[in-house]
Amino acid sequence: MTNIYSSASEMADSLAKKEYSSVELTQQHLDRIADVDGKVSAFLHVDAEGALTQAAAVDAKRVRGEKLSPLAGVPLALKDILAQKGIPTTAGSKILEGWRPPYDSTVVTKLKEAGVVILGKTNMDEFAMGSSTENSAYGTTQNPWDLSRTPGGSSGGSAAAVAAFEAPLAIGTDTGGSIRQPAALTGIVGVKPTYGGVSRYGVVAYSSSLDQVGPFGRTVLDAALLHEVIAGHDERDSTSINAPIPQVVAAAKRLDVKGMKIGVIKELSGPGFQAGVSQRISESLELLVAAGAEIVEVSCPSFEFALAAYYLIAPSEASSNLARFDSMRYGLRVGDDGSKGAEEVMSITREAGFGKEVKRRIILGTYALSSGYYDAYYGSAQKVRTLVKQDFEKAFGQADVLVSPVTPTTAFKIGEKSEDPVAMYLSDIATIPVNMAGIGGMSLPVGLADEDGLPVGLQIMAPVMQDDRFYRVGGTLEAALLSKWGKPLLANIPELGGVA
Ligand code: GLN
Repeated sequence: MTNIYSSASEMADSLAKKEYSSVELTQQHLDRIADVDGKVSAFLHVDAEGALTQAAAVDAKRVRGEKLSPLAGVPLALKDILAQKGIPTTAGSKILEGWRPPYDSTVVTKLKEAGVVILGKTNMDEFAMGSSTENSAYGTTQNPWDLSRTPGGSSGGSAAAVAAFEAPLAIGTDTGGSIRQPAALTGIVGVKPTYGGVSRYGVVAYSSSLDQVGPFGRTVLDAALLHEVIAGHDERDSTSINAPIPQVVAAAKRLDVKGMKIGVIKELSGPGFQAGVSQRISESLELLVAAGAEIVEVSCPSFEFALAAYYLIAPSEASSNLARFDSMRYGLRVGDDGSKGAEEVMSITREAGFGKEVKRRIILGTYALSSGYYDAYYGSAQKVRTLVKQDFEKAFGQADVLVSPVTPTTAFKIGEKSEDPVAMYLSDIATIPVNMAGIGGMSLPVGLADEDGLPVGLQIMAPVMQDDRFYRVGGTLEAALLSKWGKPLLANIPELGGVA
């Protein structure tokens, strides 16, 4: 019998043993989406026909005895920022409404080659700008733990789909926290790989020097399995790293942290963090000590300026990247009645097609890059970026991995921060330094906060291309937590879980 509540690796095992087919498993997820997505709104587009066709193709190969990759036949939800041939791709924006890419992004090509079944495209903050999925032009996504709260963002649709058992796996992108933050707020595992570890070819660009694609799963092993499918060098992405893929699956299975040094970042703890968040984080550190790790304290003074610098660098790059949405080549065109010139049509289209936050960022970015202010803003921000890198390097001299909470608070209410951009920006205070330095990080669910019963995420960070380290620590801690709780964290979802 198929079971949507099992992990992706369990599903893969059952498929390999022919206990059920991928068509059955895919259909069961499509049914689940039909049942619950009216409440969660994780998906912008469900490709039932395409998914069942992919599933049938994997089943046929299995029947023929062909060699299949480990995740063949397992369903997945795809953030609507990745191009998938013939399937609507909006990046959460009106300006791309109706666009069907004529090609696949490299990540989609790799998923298809691995036989992973793509169920559909998930909701997101417009152009990945946001921390709550409320900036989507297509409505907000609800957190499956509490439908009055946001799932975080910008990859909120992908995270909510996995937490609500609509898909066992999902793909997100993370520019300043958009995989780790929603993973933390929905109680699942989310990974931002090392910058350059996964190809950005065919990913709608937000801030190219920070954007990174990564996996979501309900377990560390599931995230690792997906990570190995999507990672690897791609000559179509000039920033792609040409080096062997970190062995993250083996690391996730290792279940041993003896002798590892875990650095707690002083600047990312203390009074700014919700009490229930800090509480669960310190308990996880105790479990890691019991498993043989050593805790050290490290200091990263530049992190104080990282958020401010990020909000100059990311909008600056965005203001350049978004210039391509000119209403001429593809996407929306408004006001083209024959009486107006190209520039006027462009301006009317952008006015109608871009949302408030996107316009704010374009204005901010254009200003920061303008000749009179370039050094004062963009130049200073780049200097902070160098300092952040140096702080990480120093800290990694003292510890194998670094840890902090993923977010200052648990999931906030829909509407709570949407009128206050700075309050929203602050949700990424702990995740942004990782993107600035180009290193990788994981969000691991470590319990529910006492105050509100909502999930808390621990962030585990490792040096460039050492992503296996946070899988090793994450896998070990996950096993320790599971034996403490006796059941997975997601079994506590009140409204939609249905897991006994
Ligand atoms: N919240 C941050 C921003 O709005 C990060 C978003 C992301 O990682 N895509 O830029």
